[in-house]
Amino acid sequence: MEIKEFQKLIEKIYYKKDKKRGKERTFLWFCEEVGELAKALRKGNKKAKEEEFADVFAWLTSLASLYQIDLEKAIKKYKKSCPKCKKIPCICKEKK
Ligand SMILES: [Zn+2]
Repeated sequence: MEIKEFQKLIEKIYYKKDKKRGKERTFLWFCEEVGELAKALRKGNKKAKEEEFADVFAWLTSLASLYQIDLEKAIKKYKKSCPKCKKIPCICKEKK
């Protein structure tokens, strides 16, 4: 499934609900999901990790829709290379 297709599907499933909840509260839910991912990464099995990655991605996608962000369009900045150093692989210095 392509990103655009996925975003449309997530909109069909959740947009009304998320719109009603509002951007800020939906962002908090997203953060909570990130917390669950952290927990799964720390002590979950492969299946738990997989599920949490899916949830975080779904919430991120839904959040993008609330802010009228087309994710497929947005990720094009990574299409050719690292957007900062323009290289593949990235040679940017790690931030400390
Ligand atoms: Zn770079």
